[in-house]
Amino acid sequence: MVIGLGGTIAMTQTGGGGVTPTLSARDLVDAVPGLADAGIDVNVLSLRNRPGASLTSEDILELAETLTEHFADGVAGAVITQGTDTIEETAYLLDLIHTGPKPIVVTGAMRNPTLAGADGPANLLAAVTVAASPQARELGCVVVLADEIHAAARVRKRHSMSTAAFVSPTGGPLGYLAEGQPRILNRPSYRATLDLRLLRRPLPRVGIHIATFGDDGALLPILAGGLDGLVIAGFGVGHVPDTWVTHLEDAASRIPVVLASRTGAGFTATSTYGFPGSERDLLSRGLVPAGILDPYKARLLLQVTLASTGSHAGAVAAFTAMSRTDRTPPLTGPAAPYRETVTR
Ligand code: ASP
Repeated sequence: MVIGLGGTIAMTQTGGGGVTPTLSARDLVDAVPGLADAGIDVNVLSLRNRPGASLTSEDILELAETLTEHFADGVAGAVITQGTDTIEETAYLLDLIHTGPKPIVVTGAMRNPTLAGADGPANLLAAVTVAASPQARELGCVVVLADEIHAAARVRKRHSMSTAAFVSPTGGPLGYLAEGQPRILNRPSYRATLDLRLLRRPLPRVGIHIATFGDDGALLPILAGGLDGLVIAGFGVGHVPDTWVTHLEDAASRIPVVLASRTGAGFTATSTYGFPGSERDLLSRGLVPAGILDPYKARLLLQVTLASTGSHAGAVAAFTAMSRTDRTPPLTGPAAPYRETVTR
């Protein structure tokens, strides 16, 4: 099943004022050389035609419901075509609520179809091949561009224009396509999902605030006052200016506050530094470490854990469990609403 949401892959010139999404999922599939002869039975559906920036959480939750119906009807795998601007977030949201073994593959294009060397058709062919492959089962949602297969939980868009914009800075890609065939080299050992039907909608309001040099933190109480949850994109392993500490402690007493890194790769620390505003200091004041998750993915995980548990303590427990990369250490605490998949 190929489902179109819009994005550069579907954009053409309409009135001389720049490209906009116009092509349907059928148009995209028909434009791929070799797809008709690949021996894969492809159905199409155009669900939205928007730039990636204007997709909403509700669009993705409705997409997840549509996918559940199609999987129940016997579809073996799904490909979503959409704007690359938000793929790193939409793919992770889908990953968090996709409980079955069938592959969901998200793809797009960096060059629109009117340009020389447009990458949409090659990406779509690769994505359909991965979605139809038994090798992609149990991987959850993956992102396929430029012949690389990335885990939704790790992929980042790290270049504004390059056709090689998508990377997995921590852990690397799950695999590649070689001569058109998927080769999975790194299978994640742990994945946790939430039942879509448990989510209260609309999703809670969770914001991100980035630590920046010389910021006195005066805006933090105003920001936190308007949110259900907050993610701090700290310096390095998870540090903020000492002037932020009491504001964050106060916020964390009322709403879940997650501590991530603004660096774009690596884990947040938990037990290294001891100064005011260090990761140890902030965690002792009630902040929750994001682990391997970047701030954008941490925000989504906090939204869905809040939406499914409905409580501060429940969201913190589910966030802590679901942001792990393996099953250790074993967790204690309130009964968790998430479902775990252990593949190794
Ligand atoms: N540049 C974006 C893309 O690659 C535009 C969008 O996200 O819609 O699709």
